[in-house]
Amino acid sequence: MSVPPAPPGEALEFRRLTVTPRPPSQRAAVLAAPVFGRTFTDHMVTARYTEEAGWHDFTVGPFQDLPLSPATSVLHYGQAIFEGLKAYRQPDGSVALFRPELNAVRFAASAARIAMPPLPRPAFLASLRALLEADHAWVPDGADRTLYLRPLMIATDPAVVATASGGYLFVLFASPAGAYFDGGTRALRVWVERDRVRAARGGTGAAKFAGNYGAGLLAQKLAREHGCDQVIWLDPERRRYVEELGAMNLFLVAREESGDVLLTPPLSDSLLAGVTRDSIIDLARDGGMTVREEPIAIERWRDGARDGGIREAFACGTAVAVAPIGRVDDATGHFVMGDGRPGPVARTLGQRLLDLQFGRAEDTRRWRHTVWKAS
Ligand SMILES: *Cc1c(COP(=O)(O)O)cnc(C)c1O
Repeated sequence: MSVPPAPPGEALEFRRLTVTPRPPSQRAAVLAAPVFGRTFTDHMVTARYTEEAGWHDFTVGPFQDLPLSPATSVLHYGQAIFEGLKAYRQPDGSVALFRPELNAVRFAASAARIAMPPLPRPAFLASLRALLEADHAWVPDGADRTLYLRPLMIATDPAVVATASGGYLFVLFASPAGAYFDGGTRALRVWVERDRVRAARGGTGAAKFAGNYGAGLLAQKLAREHGCDQVIWLDPERRRYVEELGAMNLFLVAREESGDVLLTPPLSDSLLAGVTRDSIIDLARDGGMTVREEPIAIERWRDGARDGGIREAFACGTAVAVAPIGRVDDATGHFVMGDGRPGPVARTLGQRLLDLQFGRAEDTRRWRHTVWKAS
């Protein structure tokens, strides 16, 4: 992913409301057993957009409910986008983000796709910084523990009119997180969805648009009923080429004469361009592996799993880092990857990624951004 240069933005001023933080003992209790997405920190950042004033009223205030009219546009016509990234506690006690400018660029691209006003990249990054200044004590210590950051934008016109809203609200809040899948690094069992699709040609699949996820929930529920963790989405036209795993990008390890080759579906308007996907491609190439972005038919995967031509499969995303796939099911049967346990390529690349994020490896690509340091 290439990042355009930041527009010159004047330094943003944040209004700071009085917040009574929870006592350290309560915070410690939450951080001792973080529940992903269900417990939140003391603060949140908000900003408003109007056609007259643009983006304004950047505020650091208490994490609290939003007052909304029942007529609020987003509740009817669904203009809502989000992002997901994490804050990592570093060995020296500081707090770092991982390639947040890519999230800023993607947030703006998602907004544009849904006819929403992009939040300028410097304002997105300044909001992350402002929240972490207020909530740095909520970034957990310890393996696999992070503070998950959730920026979102919704349409706020109090009007039941099916046109793009004039007003918007930006919100940024945070949730302490442990390992995403219970059981840590066990291999996933996944279900091939053959009827429903995640995204259409010309649709919204490349945007982090809330509707995409609502539309995927039924398939996810049915996959669970079949004993699977996640859904494999196939391409919307031929229902043949693998695209993503739930809300994660997908990689296969193929054995070829030249050695192991990492394969991943090419970006398109039905695929979400993950920051993790981009990073894994670079890390694999750094390690001397060949990486090819090419269409992968589900039959090629199945036959390769059976004859040893495809040795590993894994998914990746900010929430999980790397999640190995152990078994693939559909209505006609199933196949197993290797011995059904996490493979060496997934483990190595996952470990390299985590080492970079948690500050245990040298950051030659300048992917880490320090956002808080004890003064
Ligand atoms: C967010 C997301 C990903 C992963 O993106 P990261 O930037 O790596 O977290 C992949 N697929 C979908 C559909 C997503 O929403």
